[in-house]
Amino acid sequence: MLSEFDLIKHFFHRERPGRPDVALGIGDDCALLAPTPGRQIAISSDMLVEDRHFFAGADPFMLGHKALAVNLSDLAAMGARPIAFTLALALPRADEAWLDGFSRGLFALADEHDCELIGGDTTKGPLNICITVFGELAPGHALRRGAARPGDDIWISGTLGDARLALAGYWKEVELSPEAHAQAAPRLHMPTPRVALGLGLAAAPIAHAALDISDGLVGDLGHILAASSVGATLDVDALPAGPALARQDHALRRRFTAAGGDDYELCFTAPVARRAAVLEAAALAATPVTRVGTIETAPGLRLVDAHGVPLDLGLTGWDHFSGS
Ligand code: ADP
Ligand code: MG
Repeated sequence: MLSEFDLIKHFFHRERPGRPDVALGIGDDCALLAPTPGRQIAISSDMLVEDRHFFAGADPFMLGHKALAVNLSDLAAMGARPIAFTLALALPRADEAWLDGFSRGLFALADEHDCELIGGDTTKGPLNICITVFGELAPGHALRRGAARPGDDIWISGTLGDARLALAGYWKEVELSPEAHAQAAPRLHMPTPRVALGLGLAAAPIAHAALDISDGLVGDLGHILAASSVGATLDVDALPAGPALARQDHALRRRFTAAGGDDYELCFTAPVARRAAVLEAAALAATPVTRVGTIETAPGLRLVDAHGVPLDLGLTGWDHFSGS
């Protein structure tokens, strides 16, 4: 049986040198960061809880990926460059096969973004994965939720709804063909944090407000509207459906693109005059973007169809406490 220290050493402590701005990594009471002088540090935590955020018995490689991906997604939504992260892990037992898969999934994504694991905590308990990420950005460049302005375009990165469609398949809400499932499931289990796009949108700066869509677009966009004291009109038929959802019926497409969940795409606003700059940043980041609405002075979110006709879809975002 692995001791706690062996476990950390074997699965999480890697050979240094790592990043130059990590002055001290795993092994002491604290890690030490040496951020670029004059930059601000962006910090965010996200926790994944068994039976709440993932099914018991979920694939450990994909869990390792997702636990870090949802955190990197927050850095992306702020326009911050990833530096490092900590990992607080509660495990029911020291299962080496599980730890091997989990750490491989975790480090595959970490290495892709040059984000270094610098510490954490390990304890016995019901499976629970909490990561805190650290990134940096130039003061004044953060893509804050309160920065949307009337007249801004509303943009979405990538596609929406396939993660929710995969979940609908598991829940037997929808009958999915094996092909549709194979296409949709990676969007649920292996989300892609839009780090390069977030950096591009913040650097120039191009975008005003941004957030990552984790609980469904309609609910999450509501956070930008509230923080910015503005309203919006959203063209539901312009929302880019994921490839599996695109083959489902129109009503389901509307529902899952507008209020799915687990998309981890960016929703951002930018001035009309910056449309070309948005498209250029998207091309540089190799991430497609779609214009889906407009920020307005009148409060509230107005959903319309492709002809501008108001829609009442009775949609709300995902709320972990109300469970709807
Ligand atoms: P402490 O008793 O100070 O909490 P620990 O004995 O828990 O320290 O951890 C020893 C070292 O291992 C620390 O540097 C800590 O940050 C690191 N560590 C513990 N758990 C993890 C983990 N799951 N991933 C990465 N580093 C970890
Ligand atoms: Mg500890």
